[in-house]
Amino acid sequence: MLNKLTTVSSKELGIHSGTINAVCEQYAKSRSQKRRPYLRYRGKKNLGWVPLKGRELKETPKGFHFNGREYKVFKSRCIPCGATIKDGTNFSQDNRGNWFLNISIELPDSAQRPINRGVGIDLGLKDFATLSNGEKIQAPVLYRDAQVALAIAQRARKSRRVRAIQAKTAHRRSDFLHKLSTRIVREFDLIAVGDVSAAGLVKTNMAKSVLDAGGSSFRNQLTYKAVKHGAWLEKVNENFTTQTCSDCGARPDSSPRGIAGLGIRQWVCSECGGLHDRDVNAAENILSKLVAGLGHETPVEGIPVL
Ligand SMILES: [Zn+2]
Repeated sequence: MLNKLTTVSSKELGIHSGTINAVCEQYAKSRSQKRRPYLRYRGKKNLGWVPLKGRELKETPKGFHFNGREYKVFKSRCIPCGATIKDGTNFSQDNRGNWFLNISIELPDSAQRPINRGVGIDLGLKDFATLSNGEKIQAPVLYRDAQVALAIAQRARKSRRVRAIQAKTAHRRSDFLHKLSTRIVREFDLIAVGDVSAAGLVKTNMAKSVLDAGGSSFRNQLTYKAVKHGAWLEKVNENFTTQTCSDCGARPDSSPRGIAGLGIRQWVCSECGGLHDRDVNAAENILSKLVAGLGHETPVEGIPVL
C-alpha cells in the first residue's frame, strides 16, 4: 500500500526508490509484528539505517556504486564470485556513529558431503562446548580487563569510552562464535547439537549465564553454515543425555541428576564401571541419539560412534 503511494516520491526526496520501497516494507512488517497501527517515529536517538534493494548496488574496485554515487568502503572480506547481492542489504550506523555497509549475499549451497566424521556437541555452563571426541572449548573469559576498564569508564561517565568497550566485547564474542562454528562445519560432516535445556534452567540462577553464553546464536550459525558447507546438522533432544551411560546405555543412580548434579564433573557408572567426564559423556550420547534417530535411512553407516 505504502509502496504505491510513494512510487514517484523518489526524485523529490533525493532518495533511491529501492530504499523507500524497503523502508515501506519494513514498516509494514514491524507493524504487523508488533500489532500496532502506527509505529514510533525514528528520531535522532535512533541509529541510522538505510536499507536498499540488492540489485541497486554495484561493486566497484574501491567500494560500491549506489544511487549515482560511489561509496568507498573498507571491505571486511571479499564478495565471493558467483554470489548475488540480496535485498536486506543496508547502510547502518553503530552507537559510536560509524557507518557500515552490510551486504547480504546469496551463495549456491554446497552439495551434501559424504559423511565420514560425526560429532556430538554439548553446550554447557562451565565449558562453552564439549565435543564427543573429548575436546573442550572454553568460552572466552568474560574479559576481566574489559570489565575493569568498563567500570572505570562508567564511573567517570565517559559514555563514548563505555560504548567503545561494549562494542569491542561484543565483537570479540561474535568473533569467537563465528570461528568456532566455521571450524566445526569444516571438520565434521555430521553434527549433533543438543537442543537447549535452558528452558529448564531458566528458573535457577544459572539462567543468566545460559542466556549470556551465546549458545543459541552459536546453534543458529552452525545451522546455516552446515547448509553452506554441505554438512549434516540435527538438533537432538538432550533429555537424559547427562544421566545415561554412553558405554552401557544404563541410567544408573550414580549419574549426575538435577540441579544438585550440576556440580559433578566426573562420575563412575555403577552398572558397568565406566568412568565418565560429565560433558563428554553427554556429547557422546547426543551423537548416538542422532545416529540412532536416522535409523535405516541413515547415510552414515561408516560412522564410528565414538
Ligand atoms: Zn555404564
